[in-house]
Amino acid sequence: MASPCVMCNKSCCNSQVITVTSFDVERIARHSNLKPWRFAQLRKLDLPTCLNNHVVECWDGKEREDHILALKSLPCKLRSEEGCSVYEARPFSCRLYPHWKTGQVSKDAVCPFVPKMMFGMVKPDLLHVEHFEKENLEFSGIVRECNRRKLTKEKAFEFLTQVRIY
Ligand code: SF4
Ligand code: SF4
Repeated sequence: MASPCVMCNKSCCNSQVITVTSFDVERIARHSNLKPWRFAQLRKLDLPTCLNNHVVECWDGKEREDHILALKSLPCKLRSEEGCSVYEARPFSCRLYPHWKTGQVSKDAVCPFVPKMMFGMVKPDLLHVEHFEKENLEFSGIVRECNRRKLTKEKAFEFLTQVRIY
């Protein structure tokens, strides 16, 4: 079955905050030869939905500020005229969108097509969901260590994006 994405205006890439893990960042950096700061950021936490154990605590002043690791988006900086410039290395959240791994459609989904399609047929990455689950868990540990160190935002970003996965 052809993906409905080929007929779409790609509103997901233009209007969604794309949260990522250290592993997503590493794959994209290797694939694109871009430094992580060119496409990723620690974004102030203003999302209704994100994993609590992925919340990064930054200490630039006396008060703690919570952030989340995300792509530079709205629209996504990795989008080109031709499409996703890092398609082979795109983040897990992009691979599944607009679904959660459970198959439910995300509440804030802007996708006009996929909710109507048979789940799984157009998202073959779901077959590898255990691998990404493992990464999510490992990323939680990386974030925990980062938070333990009470780093500034800049240092926390460095810490989270210097992971080597292979
Ligand atoms: S996932 Fe949905 S919104 Fe995104 S490009 Fe595909 S059809 Fe369009
Ligand atoms: S990484 Fe690629 S698929 Fe994901 S939002 Fe950016 S352009 Fe779209």
